[in-house]
Amino acid sequence: MTTRTARCVCGALSVTAEGEPLKVSACHCHACQRRTGSAFSVAVFYDRDRVTMTGPSQTFTRPGDSGQTVAFHFCPTCGTSILWYPQFRPQWVGVAIGCFADDSPGAPTQAVYEQFRHDWVTLAIQPR
Ligand SMILES: [Zn+2]
Ligand SMILES: [Zn+2]
Repeated sequence: MTTRTARCVCGALSVTAEGEPLKVSACHCHACQRRTGSAFSVAVFYDRDRVTMTGPSQTFTRPGDSGQTVAFHFCPTCGTSILWYPQFRPQWVGVAIGCFADDSPGAPTQAVYEQFRHDWVTLAIQPR
């Protein structure tokens, strides 16, 4: 089985994911723009049972638009938000695609919050 490893910038916090992801989802919402400091985020969703986090982390929980929360885990040293637990999908965990670096699972299979997309951003979505 394929195993991929994601890690924060400083290397103290890492995530191991087994198998192929359920979904790779780009998000253009303002909260994701602010969290990443970039124009959009890309979440690699796995079943929670397939993902193991190793190292120290802190949590920031924010309300989502549905009224349910999303709990982000980030490295206390370098601040990288490496994974998050969406309350609306209790069996899912999102891992930040950039933390996989060259171990990436591939292109986004969907994009959400298109209404907030910067107009210069064009993504090659590859639906499965
Ligand atoms: Zn770190
Ligand atoms: Zn978002």
